[in-house]
Amino acid sequence: MAKYTGPVCKLCRREGDKLFLKGERCYSDKCPFSKGQIRKTPVFPPGQHGSARKKLTPYSVQLREKQKAKRIYGLTEKQFHRYYLKAERMRGVVGENMLALIERRLDNVVFRMGMGSSRAQSRQLVNHGHIQVNGQKVDIPSFLVKEGDIITVKPSKKELGFFKDLKEIKVANLPKWLSFNPETLTGKIEALPGRDDIELSIQEHLIIELYSK
Ligand code: SF4
Repeated sequence: MAKYTGPVCKLCRREGDKLFLKGERCYSDKCPFSKGQIRKTPVFPPGQHGSARKKLTPYSVQLREKQKAKRIYGLTEKQFHRYYLKAERMRGVVGENMLALIERRLDNVVFRMGMGSSRAQSRQLVNHGHIQVNGQKVDIPSFLVKEGDIITVKPSKKELGFFKDLKEIKVANLPKWLSFNPETLTGKIEALPGRDDIELSIQEHLIIELYSK
């Protein structure tokens, strides 16, 4: 499946917000947004005309919100739109259903459990076959987890330096719908996520307005 391989800080600058696409680096002074705060200079969108003032239309506001959500989760337009179509067929609020579906992706779960420092790294852990769901290897990042699923690192990979280091970390901000034991590198889906569990500043109603035109 296609994925964006260009510079990711550019994407944050385009959206005018930190999307946390580079793991630990995003929390350091190397982030352009931190540099901007230190130097007291605004962070402009990329490109020659990035600093030019542009009038925001309702369409551009909706488009930017959709692009932001898509980029946070590292999805292509086709993949992202598919979640919208699926959410539309479900009961409840379409925007909330869509975010909850995306949140259940295996690469996102691995990231939220703290095994990867970014969603991109977590996706690679899944792609490379390091992750098991209920004792079976799953190397599909878009795999949707269910309540009660057990997510763990493949036993033969637990001794890799990367995973050994993980045993010493304390998982901060673990959402309440997940549990994770760094000692055994095993986590559980305690419940399916709701909108309140997704602490992202995404206004999903704008995305739905855009797609339902
Ligand atoms: Fe975005 Fe992280 Fe780059 Fe900062 S360091 S601009 S948060 S990807």
